[in-house]
Amino acid sequence: MLRKIVGVAVAIAFLAGGVVVARELTRPASVTIEEPSITLEPGEMRSIHASRSGGSPLSDALSWRIVPPGLGTINERGEFRAGAVSGKGTVSARSGSASADVPITITCPKQAQLRGVRFDVACGRLADVYVDVAAYGGAASAATAVDRDASTVASDLSIPAERRFRVYYFGTSQGFAAALPELGRDFTSGGIGFEGGAVYFDAADAIAIDQSADPQMQTTGALRHELVHRFLRQFVGYANVNEIPTWLNEGWAFVEESSQKNWLRMEARLVSASMAHLGKLPSLRTLTSLGDWNDRTGIESLYQYYAAAQAAQFLIDDAKLAGMHRLLLRVRDGSSFAEAFAYAVPGLGYADFQDRFNDRVAALVQTYPGMVAVSGAPNGSGGTVIVYGLNPSASATVTAAGPIERELSTTIDPYGVFVKYIGREFPPGDYIVTFETAGQHLSVTLRL
Ligand SMILES: [Zn+2]
Repeated sequence: MLRKIVGVAVAIAFLAGGVVVARELTRPASVTIEEPSITLEPGEMRSIHASRSGGSPLSDALSWRIVPPGLGTINERGEFRAGAVSGKGTVSARSGSASADVPITITCPKQAQLRGVRFDVACGRLADVYVDVAAYGGAASAATAVDRDASTVASDLSIPAERRFRVYYFGTSQGFAAALPELGRDFTSGGIGFEGGAVYFDAADAIAIDQSADPQMQTTGALRHELVHRFLRQFVGYANVNEIPTWLNEGWAFVEESSQKNWLRMEARLVSASMAHLGKLPSLRTLTSLGDWNDRTGIESLYQYYAAAQAAQFLIDDAKLAGMHRLLLRVRDGSSFAEAFAYAVPGLGYADFQDRFNDRVAALVQTYPGMVAVSGAPNGSGGTVIVYGLNPSASATVTAAGPIERELSTTIDPYGVFVKYIGREFPPGDYIVTFETAGQHLSVTLRL
């Protein structure tokens, strides 16, 4: 009887041991993260301590996952480095089917430094905005303005604003020049837009604007311009952005830049028309490569933006916003621009569009030569007088008669154009502006 009991006990112990072993083999691993939450500023590093228990001894080591991926980077030792922009997300540590999460907050830094330039920082809905303490305006109002312009541009381009980015405003050109290499350090290939006082760094996804290079009224235009480059690059992807011909990338940027500047739109339109009238409008084939674009100097480097803007506007008019969106989707999927173009405007080939460009621009104006006065000028007030379709490089005399009188001897540019910005040196009132050159006498009224 006793032996029997012992035998049963041994059997129970054996069974119990067997169960224990079986559970040891199948019990799911568990993962724990020591830190309840992590808060960092952009670029800061912190180790995340995750540990694993249970599971098969053969199971893989911990693997890490960051959501959203732009929040930061992490190595196999759990060293997390915050990304460049503010935001919230999680880091997950996983082993087999087990995982643990830690919430991460990348806070908006109040202040920052870059190569000796000190910034106040404000983080809006779409972007982190760094304003040089030597620049005018506060960071909070700059962040509001960036949100507004980024929303407008995203909507005009029919592109969703998906990822946060950075905007830097510099108060001096020395600071701008010193900090540019820092922002562009991880830049790896073409696709940079450089417009004098404004740059978009596509690897860093940052816009830098030198406020000292532009009067205050110009800064909005510069931001909108670079935002077009930024959204196009974001939407079609780094690998495909070079499929977009430079005339469209720069021309669309110019269209957005000049959307609230009637004088600039008018100047671009009439200069382009004058070039086409004289057979000197650059063809779209010569405005396709960024290398050729960046090689132009002098007045040609300005007028190529004007020509490109007319081409971009023709395409937007032909394709409508829906067609532009179809085109960009095709480019994003890896199509060539010519293939994508067929989806933008059914029935119009890219070759035809290019061939008709000169005639369409020439037809923007009915009679040559002509003279136009519009209100507004680069410094925000005043007016602009544009004379076009003239004999290239001829000499001329311009007079303004009104509250004050002025006379100016000048030379018409090689594209048959004369442009004069009239600013605060002219008191308000009506001026008769007269332009005289060999065999031509033109005049307009300018109201200041
Ligand atoms: Zn540009």
